[in-house]
Amino acid sequence: MERDKVKGMLWGLIVGDALGSPIQFTDKDNHPWITEMEYCPVFDVPAGYWTDDGSMAMCIMDSFVRKSGYDINDVAETFVRWLKEGYLSSIEGRAFDIGNATFASLSKFSETGSLVNGEESSQGNGSIMRFAPSYIVSRSLNRPEIVREVSDVTHASNRVRETCDVLALILDLHMAGGRSCYGPGAETPREKVPNYGWCVDSLNAAMWAFNTTNTFEEGMIAAVNLGGDSDSIGAIYGQIAGAYYGFDAIPERWIKAVKTWKDIDALIEKFLDAVERKSVFPKVLDLIRQTKKVYCSHIQRELGLGYNQASRMMDWLKEEGYVSLVENDKEVLDEEGRSFTDAYKINWAKF
Ligand SMILES: [Mg+2]
Repeated sequence: MERDKVKGMLWGLIVGDALGSPIQFTDKDNHPWITEMEYCPVFDVPAGYWTDDGSMAMCIMDSFVRKSGYDINDVAETFVRWLKEGYLSSIEGRAFDIGNATFASLSKFSETGSLVNGEESSQGNGSIMRFAPSYIVSRSLNRPEIVREVSDVTHASNRVRETCDVLALILDLHMAGGRSCYGPGAETPREKVPNYGWCVDSLNAAMWAFNTTNTFEEGMIAAVNLGGDSDSIGAIYGQIAGAYYGFDAIPERWIKAVKTWKDIDALIEKFLDAVERKSVFPKVLDLIRQTKKVYCSHIQRELGLGYNQASRMMDWLKEEGYVSLVENDKEVLDEEGRSFTDAYKINWAKF
């Protein structure tokens, strides 16, 4: 998966949550117009504090990094740690902006260990506001069921599952370089755009902002200023637009205004490395087993990877002792006659 797009999806989510939070619960035209991170009177927190949307997304990433893979039970336990101890909350030690369905579901998980919680009537946007990490894991490991499993922990509703599927298809298209036009567009005037927390409404609101604008920034401003469930609409828009425009299109001033943004960026990088390691690294090992060749351009070409990705694979091969560097003073040529300076010995005992 293209790093710029997946990183855009994750940072888009967090930036949208923090931007929209100060005006959540307001009427559509009864709030200050938001274009920058601002103090949030709803929770009395400074500018750049993320809410439940960002925290729960970080819980999914954190779990994958700690477990070096997908573990739904650990994802649910990490959600509970957020709920009870404020783990990965922007307010030290305290979770806030907790949805009713999420609270009830995580309480049930704590008591019974049930990984499927919620009622059909719980059709809030709690699953799609934190969606991107589960989507990235699902697609990278080629396990489509993961998006519904992570959603089911708090919102076991068919309507929510279907909405997750729609969002996944939108993201698939954006990852593949297309542009979705799902949902309302320019024919729908702003006053008719829903800004509620119903999952279908929130997705439509985010898509309206995406469909009627041409940059990440312009769309985000349109999304959060719908008011209502503005932080989650912003988080949903951020994922959709991040996957389309990529990380580099997100205004740096917004990212750097998020509390502890460097820590969040480090978590995102660690998560994406861990996902890549779980999904791509086994293919590299198979390739070496089959072809008995190990050099960067070979891995890059045979697996269709980018140069940076192939370089990371080489680093991991070295770190894990699958290959070791052979000192040589001769120029070595690869199959295509390009010279490279390092030659590697394959340590077959590791395979
Ligand atoms: Mg929130």
